[in-house]
This record gives sequence, structure tokens and C-alpha cells, in this order.
Amino acid sequence: MSNQAYLELQNIHQMFGSHQALKDVSLNIQEGEFVCFLGPSGCGKTSLLRIIAGLDTPSSGELFQAGQNITQTPIKHRDFGIVFQSYALFPNLSVADNIAYGLVSKQFSQRDKQARVSELLATVGLSGSETKYPAQLSGGQQQRVALARALATSPGLLLLDEPLSALDARVRAHLRQEIKQLQEKLGVTTIMVTHDQEEALTMADKIVVMNQGVIEQIGTPQEVYTHPNTPFVAEFVGEMNFIEAKNSGDGLMQSGTLMLQCEPSSESMFGENVKLAIRPEDIRFNGHEDDKNSLNAQVLHLEFLGSRVRSLLQIDDHETPLIADISMNEMSGLNLAQGQSVRCQLPADRLHIFGGHA
Ligand code: ATP
Repeated sequence: MSNQAYLELQNIHQMFGSHQALKDVSLNIQEGEFVCFLGPSGCGKTSLLRIIAGLDTPSSGELFQAGQNITQTPIKHRDFGIVFQSYALFPNLSVADNIAYGLVSKQFSQRDKQARVSELLATVGLSGSETKYPAQLSGGQQQRVALARALATSPGLLLLDEPLSALDARVRAHLRQEIKQLQEKLGVTTIMVTHDQEEALTMADKIVVMNQGVIEQIGTPQEVYTHPNTPFVAEFVGEMNFIEAKNSGDGLMQSGTLMLQCEPSSESMFGENVKLAIRPEDIRFNGHEDDKNSLNAQVLHLEFLGSRVRSLLQIDDHETPLIADISMNEMSGLNLAQGQSVRCQLPADRLHIFGGHA
């Protein structure tokens, strides 16, 4: 079949004693895709990656790679390269030997091996480092060697388990870009585990958001950010303000003394409690009193964040202040100051509705 997924996970469950680490996980990954498993610590992303790698067998469920059922296939017969969080290089082997390690069993001649190692080092931007030892390299360089080693046999699947989390922010941002470019160039199907939403948003073609052993949402970074399916996804991917409200019918949601107009939604019915949500950058200023969802707020706090200013807004009798981010361009015409009253607007098309609960 031409539209067959490259990797298919069907109803995967994983139990550790009485603890269920994965609950009915099903997922298709297409050839050449860069997929991120994103979620907080303990949500099951590493457990899922280990099952895909064959390091663990699932309690139940099946896995298919390129149409083959690989659920019980031993690790040595699986076609993948893996990079772990800790560089996991052999300290007593040179860079060249570390990279060639995976080639040993693959019947390469010495000369082919050297050529392949040089090619891989060039690919990861470390040409000429063959004779160095891991201890002579920075963390970022070691992780590039680990990447070269994982790619040595040209695997069909590249697995990355938090490969950047041990690096400092600047190296991380740089390597993030490099891995993404390399993956695009090679076209290798890639799965990366991360708890860093920025990493997932910038690198992935598809994000799998996980929470407590289940998949909460699968989508492109844009889909997951702009149309989160659940409050968990809304809060975990990006930042979100939440407002508890009740559905008053005709798209109106009441929260204390506020009456907010929302876009029609099938998510909740009249009389139900809902959670409204709005991103900090979606709150508008400079509105008029008669604009829809325009309200008075008091500026509790202002924080300069370089390209934008973050404000904390107290709305009427609401317990939790709203966070609003204002771009510097917008800010220049506003004259906002701490303690001041402002008029802000929660545009109806930017309000997410999660509901309904009784
Ligand atoms: P982290 O980002 O902290 O690595 P994670 O999302 O990768 O978290 P997992 O490592 O998959 O989470 O763990 C999921 C759950 O299963 C956790 O509650 C963990 O304690 C538990 N768990 C994982 N491996 C084992 C094991 N071998 N034995 C018992 N429990 C385990």
C-alpha cells in the first residue's frame, strides 16, 4: 500500500507492576517525518521510545515498521539509530572508533569504514576530529559524535531521547537547528522525546502531546498551539490564561460579573460550566468601551521581556490575574503604567472553550 505509515503503533499498553505507564497508545508516523513526543516528566514518553527501539516489550499492543510486525523483533534486528540524553560515548575509544562501532558488524572494509566516518563527521560539522577522545570535546560536540554514530548505518529510523537537555541554552538552540536541517537533508524518519515545548514547536513536523500515559493530542506545531484539544495541551504548549465560566446560551459565557461572547462551539451546552482560555499575546489593548468583550482591568505589574512587555491584569472580582503580552510596537502607543486602569479586549475568535463539566 502506498499510503502505509512507516511506523504504526497499535493499542500499546505498558505496565510496570501495578503502574500503567502507557494506556492504549495508537499512532502512525509517515516516512521522513520528524515527530516529537512531548510531555511532562513521567508521562510515558521514554517508555514509548524504548518500546519502539525494542529495549522493552509492551505489555500488550503491536508495532509495525514498514509493514513488518516488529513487536517481538530483537533489538539487533531492528533498523534504527539512537541518541540518548547523556552522550553515552565510549570514553576509551577515539571519535572515529566511537562512530565506526556500529559498522563493525556490518562487514565494512577498513577503508570504507574510514571514508564513512569522515563523511559522517563532515555531516555533523566535526571534520578532522577522528583521533580525538570524547573527553577532549565539549558537550555539544560529543552529542554531534553520538548523532554521527546513530546515523552510521543509515538507519530508517532515528530515535532521539532528550538529546539536547544536558547542553547549555546557547549550544542547545544551535544544535536544535542543525539537527533539524540534517534531518531534512537526510529525510530520515525521526522521533525525538522532549519535555521542552519550544524544542518540539521549532523542530517537529508533528507533535504527540502525552500526559499520564495517554496521547492528549497529535498535530502539527501550529495545530497544537492554535487549537489545543484539552486544557492540559493548552497549558503545556505555550502559555494560557484560564477563566472559569458558565454557558449562558447563544455563545455567551458568564464569569462572575463578566459576560463574554464566544464563537459558537459544540463543546458545551447551556448551563454547563466551562473553562475559557486565552493566550497572553491574544489579549488586545486600545479598544473601545463598546467593543465586544471589552473590559476594564488594573495593571498590577509590568515586566520588560526584550521584544515584548508582560503585564499582569486584575479583572473585576477575578481571583487570578490575566497575563497579557504586548509587543514593543503596540506598547509605544499605549503609555501603560503599573497601578493604572486600562481597557483591554478578549477577542471572541481567540477565546478557547473547554467544556462542559457539571
Ligand atoms: P522523564 O521525562 O522524566 O524521563 P517520561 O515521560 O519519559 O519521563 P517514563 O520514563 O516513560 O516517563 O515513565 C513513565 C512512568 O513509568 C513513570 O511513572 C515512571 O516512574 C514509570 N516507569 C518507567 N520505567 C519504569 C520501570 N522500569 N519500572 C517501574 N516503573 C517505571
